[in-house]
Amino acid sequence: MTSTMLATFFSLTKHICRMTLRERLRHDVSVKVASKTGHFRFCAVHCGRTVEELFRRHELIRKTQQHKDFLELTGQCVGFCCSLASFLQFEERVLLRFVAPEAVVHIESIALGEVRGYVRNKGECDSDGSLNISRILCNKAHPVTSVTHADAADLSHRLGVQELGHLMAHDLSLHALNFMMKSEGAEHAALLVETGIDMEDCTAVAIAGIAQPIAPPVEAEGLLVPLRTALLNPEVRRTTRLAMLDATNRGFGAQYLLSLFSGDYVGAEATAVAARQLVDEIAACRECIEPMREMMGITSTTIPLDPETTERTRLDFFCRCSAADVIARLTSWPKEDLLSSFGEDGTLESRCAMCAKTYTFTRSQLGV
Ligand SMILES: [Zn+2]
Repeated sequence: MTSTMLATFFSLTKHICRMTLRERLRHDVSVKVASKTGHFRFCAVHCGRTVEELFRRHELIRKTQQHKDFLELTGQCVGFCCSLASFLQFEERVLLRFVAPEAVVHIESIALGEVRGYVRNKGECDSDGSLNISRILCNKAHPVTSVTHADAADLSHRLGVQELGHLMAHDLSLHALNFMMKSEGAEHAALLVETGIDMEDCTAVAIAGIAQPIAPPVEAEGLLVPLRTALLNPEVRRTTRLAMLDATNRGFGAQYLLSLFSGDYVGAEATAVAARQLVDEIAACRECIEPMREMMGITSTTIPLDPETTERTRLDFFCRCSAADVIARLTSWPKEDLLSSFGEDGTLESRCAMCAKTYTFTRSQLGV
């Protein structure tokens, strides 16, 4: 092999390695793991690509006039919905509806990894901060729905934290925590939902996760409550947000988030490996996370993870709508309404609310 050929070979190999790394980074996943004692469960969700696809399909960056706060809140809704769905199985799904100051965010996440959603204008009855979570479960004939409304004063009292007002408008954290406490009976759960958006190149970095007692073990209060409380502190939140978004951007989100939640750096690395995620050196992860855990006052509370229980689900923006479904819906309309919906060119356009796909039909296709 000549030196030129060798150089080309190495350059190609390098290119392929880079491509592989980039492609792996482009996959959204949810990673679920239990603690060694079996008393806690954790999930970590990377969902930046799904958030980008949601923005692209519904042209949200343009339509919201680059409203960064609202767009980041929408990304948090995707992360929280996927986190809840990661604890379900098969076709079970979570539907999230959150009333933000500007509009209503709808997200649906199926345990299998399909995610879709859209944003709609508010109705007259929509009150800001209302969080509606519905679960469609295999063993229940009807959806299990709960509507919660976070009250800053009430939560300040319950959580023993002053000044929560800054978390009410464009931040899902407090609303999600309120839902976990009031509706899930997860009084001691901790969670993190962060999204960062680059408006210029329309890219998003999104990480979310939940640390939750499975049964109410006695130690939950001592182990998770300090973490939960610390994450509501503005300074701690700013630091963890930057560190988590940076780690997620480098592909280490699951490892870093699970390390932060559990303090078990070796277990978090092994879990991320089992979930086929990129991992950083354990020492580098510890160097970043440990000062944050010190700032939170939780260095003495380690929850060993059990990497053998790791479950990984790939997440994609995906909608199951089809031309056949749309035809079935349209042909159930009164004939006059259907006929009056055709344009001058003799076709009828129907757009899927969830994924924004447009279907075009002729009269003969609809049998009128
Ligand atoms: Zn669709």
